Amino acid sequence: MPKQSSSSYDVIIIGAGPGGYVCAIRCAQLGLKVACVEKGKSLGGTCLNVGCIPSKALLQASQKYEEAQHSLGAFGVTVEKVSLDLKGMMKHKENVVSANTKGIEFLFKKNKIDWIQGTATIEKAGQVSVDGQSYQANSIVIATGSDVVSLPNIKIDENQIVSSTGALSLSKVPKTMVVIGGGVIGLEMGAVWSRLGSEVTIVEYMDKILSETDEEISKDMLKILKKQGINFKLSTKVMSAKTLKTGVDLSLESATGGKAEKLKAEIVLVAVGRAPYTNGLGLDKIGVNFDVRGRIVTDETFESSVEGIFAIGDVIAGPMLAHKAEEEGVILAEMLAGQTGHIDYNLIPSVVYTHPEVAQIGKTEQALKEEKVSYKVGKFPYMANGRARAMNELDGFVKILADATTDKVLGAHILGAEAGNLIHEIAAVMEFGGSAEDISRICHAHPTLAELVKEAALAVDNRPIHT
Ligand code: FAD
Ligand code: NAD
Repeated sequence: MPKQSSSSYDVIIIGAGPGGYVCAIRCAQLGLKVACVEKGKSLGGTCLNVGCIPSKALLQASQKYEEAQHSLGAFGVTVEKVSLDLKGMMKHKENVVSANTKGIEFLFKKNKIDWIQGTATIEKAGQVSVDGQSYQANSIVIATGSDVVSLPNIKIDENQIVSSTGALSLSKVPKTMVVIGGGVIGLEMGAVWSRLGSEVTIVEYMDKILSETDEEISKDMLKILKKQGINFKLSTKVMSAKTLKTGVDLSLESATGGKAEKLKAEIVLVAVGRAPYTNGLGLDKIGVNFDVRGRIVTDETFESSVEGIFAIGDVIAGPMLAHKAEEEGVILAEMLAGQTGHIDYNLIPSVVYTHPEVAQIGKTEQALKEEKVSYKVGKFPYMANGRARAMNELDGFVKILADATTDKVLGAHILGAEAGNLIHEIAAVMEFGGSAEDISRICHAHPTLAELVKEAALAVDNRPIHT
């Protein structure tokens, strides 16, 4: 049960997602007296309750089902009568979520952080009220995250037309599902329900999926997902959706306009992005400034336009990623404790947890071309790696981009099994300003997928060993 011991703090943090709870723990480690206000029934925010963690639990579980049905035969493992226990799968997801959120409760107790349960409003700098009760703090941190974006004429009812939250808890596998948006959520949740037997169609406004991703990877990923049975309608927008007893009738149009097309689905998932969430905080009354996208404007110390009020995570500019929010939480806590902190926004890795995975860090080739930077490319395919062959994971490649003159690594893009783990070796090298040659001179254990990274680094200098 949440409990508070006082009404006066060094720091009050609003929101207990990855930004807020991590900031609270780091503040406490540094000796600050800290409280965290969270309106939800459990700690952990979007990420732990209805985001990163439950989606990965379902991705993992649905991939096992997929493998038992289609992939184990190739390893000489025969599995007969594979069947789906959707309730069991959902139970797995709920257990994972509960273990994680309870873990944060434990960490709050361990670090003597007060959890004030309720909805916070900022009265003025230094004063927060939670459901009528006032609390004082030298610094206030807003970490209230983001919420789903909806579309005009398409009302999310979390029943037939769902957001990612509804898509994480469907009680049966829909025969057909239309996903609006071919971004990260669309691909991850589309993959889950497609693996479980739904006929999934992803409708994307742009002419490609994962529009921020390296173009080569976006193209290859599209081919792979199509091979896996997911249908795509690119350069298409959904104009309206009508719910009927028998499903949802959608009206589509080409992104450039033209003749309307109809599509029917049992379930529609709206996954067209998320927007910063500041409802109920009372920020307009106290003069906190927002940018055109509704994000709180902060300076390099995360301070808003009002002295003593700070903001981190999805509610400010930058990628809406849990680890970005966490980094900001740590740095802000250290600055509030009188230390210094630094974050390099160019070095925030991002991962799409489909199968195969997509992972990237640093610049894309498109960005380097636009910036007129002269660069070299080293590419190495999974099919030329011994361990990948043993794993039957032949799709994909590692691509490293390095400065043509200095050889400094400028970006890396991976499509393939374990991409999300492999990217971190490159992240470490980039943090230290290392070169492709630095990576290629590190002895990599054999046989591992990590050798793909070494070979791609060698390929930057046109001397991979195994292709
Ligand atoms: P949030 O996690 O959104 O937390 C904000 C908290 O503030 C909430 O708990 C909310 O209840 C609380 N709050 C809001 N207003 C108030 C108030 N007035 N008073 C009290 N409490 C309040 N990111 C990744 O890096 N990897 C992933 O794999 C990943 N998967 C995702 C999958 C899905 C389906 C979704 C939706 C998101 C995913 N994300 C992922 C994004 C990630 O969840 C967010 O970037 C992250 O949660 C942002 O953290 P935050 O602390 O800024 O905000
Ligand atoms: P997104 O921005 O990744 O993708 C939204 C997609 O919807 C875009 O491709 C956009 O072109 C398309 N779109 C917009 N309007 C449309 C319309 N009217 N018709 C058709 N397509 C339309 O957003 P998301 O997938 O909703 O994810 C939200 C946030 O959550 C992202 O910022 C992401 O960083 C985060 N997230 C991260 C992970 C991860 O790290 N693995 C997983 C899930 C979510």
